[in-house]
Amino acid sequence: MRAPSEFVASVVRPEIRALKAYEVTDAAGLIKLDAMENPYPLPQEVRAKIAAAVADVPINRYPDGGAKAVKSALREAFGIGDDLGIVLGNGSDELIQMLTVAVAAPGATIMAPDPSFVMYRMNAVYAGVRFVGVPLAADFSLDPKAMQQAIERERPALVFLAYPNNPTGNLFAPEHMDAVLRAAPGLVVVDEAYHAFAGTSFLPRLRDYPNLVVMRTVSKIGMAGLRLGYAIGAREWTAELEKIRQPYNLNALTQAVAPVLLREGAMLEAQATSIKAERTRIAAALSALPGVQVFTTHTNFVLARVPDAPRWFERLREARILVKNLHGWHPLLANCLRITVGTPEENSAVLAALPANR
Ligand code: PMP
Repeated sequence: MRAPSEFVASVVRPEIRALKAYEVTDAAGLIKLDAMENPYPLPQEVRAKIAAAVADVPINRYPDGGAKAVKSALREAFGIGDDLGIVLGNGSDELIQMLTVAVAAPGATIMAPDPSFVMYRMNAVYAGVRFVGVPLAADFSLDPKAMQQAIERERPALVFLAYPNNPTGNLFAPEHMDAVLRAAPGLVVVDEAYHAFAGTSFLPRLRDYPNLVVMRTVSKIGMAGLRLGYAIGAREWTAELEKIRQPYNLNALTQAVAPVLLREGAMLEAQATSIKAERTRIAAALSALPGVQVFTTHTNFVLARVPDAPRWFERLREARILVKNLHGWHPLLANCLRITVGTPEENSAVLAALPANR
């Protein structure tokens, strides 16, 4: 009898066999500052509203395939005009997959600055399509000449621009973004996962660029557990993406809960304000430490280059704090730690635990 491994070796694509499954670090008992989650628990009265909404969900039925309640709550919360289409994903991770599949013709290329969000590259691998990463400048700004040349050389079907960028935290210069949008022969997706902390957006530019789609998520504003991402663009784009979307990709509980939270605009606003204030405090405290370089951030995390990232990571880990050690990810990220902004207490714990402060 042949072993399962022989079957696997004969049919699973080599590039898939070469991958490692995405591992989520177990954070039980730790202060979790590794994944850009919102640190605030929900107030009691909001929990009660959620409980009531969930209690009414007919779990025996498939969810609304069109997720109409979620879409209208998003339109209301973020002022998305009716002339624009919206496609929903099980997290924006799923939207990245849908966008990739939509353009994955033989010979097509997907492009993104590098370093940027790893799932752009991963989804290109899954779909068997070429991925080209264009190096950022050493200060993490978009290198307009390198982008221009890469676009002319590669003619990418799809360019992802994270705005602000993860893991570097910065906003690319709008004129550099415009240059990419004008030069690109295909779709440009501006990924605004961190828009709540950025104070700027390409949403108003959708009508200027026929090849622009703006993608967002509710994960960073307190709803990571719901898994809900949304892409906004001309209806010609969203109509094509709708054809790829799995019929019931947004489960009924998410569809019931998301509108409740999206209506809590004042709470979401207050949390973002507090996160931004804490971000300033952490950045200032970190940059006062010898040998530490803090990069400008427009997100809910702070990227810092420290004297010895693996050692600092371990020190924090001993203090039961989990951050992201980016050392080894990319040459530009040498000795960098990415620290999600937590509650004031959590952030103080981080600062107290840093090797330089002990
Ligand atoms: N885009 C960027 C730039 C991100 O940083 C993330 C999450 N780390 C995502 C997309 C995915 O978000 P989600 O799948 O939770 O919506």
